[in-house]
Amino acid sequence: MLTENQQSQQRAVNSFSENPIAHLDFQRMFPDEAACLLYLEKMRWPDGFVCDKCSAAGEPFRLSSRPKVLKCRACQQDASITAGTVMHRSKTSIHVWFWAAYLITAQTSGVSALELQKRLGIKRYETAFQLLHKLR
Ligand SMILES: [Zn+2]
Repeated sequence: MLTENQQSQQRAVNSFSENPIAHLDFQRMFPDEAACLLYLEKMRWPDGFVCDKCSAAGEPFRLSSRPKVLKCRACQQDASITAGTVMHRSKTSIHVWFWAAYLITAQTSGVSALELQKRLGIKRYETAFQLLHKLR
């Protein structure tokens, strides 16, 4: 038998695998960068895209070379999907941001920058540290 303290320590260690349903749901909801961007787009324009500059509504231009930007069909103004979020102008992919946010909130005991770095395959420790700092 484990003591209560040992049990809670073990729970902290296993907390990622302890909640496999949430983990799977998250994976299904956000399988890739495009899914994350679409989610942000729906958050920012829940009733469909509206241009900040000319207020024209309707489907914007989408450039595959600039997936974070929508372009107004009426006035050609760019609208950044990540504007106003911590992800704006970040070199880190939105997918990694989403996973970092998920892992930080999913684990009640808290997650370390080193753990984030390992789990998300982030090359530089500093990047993981900054993600953690900005999301906390
Ligand atoms: Zn416009």
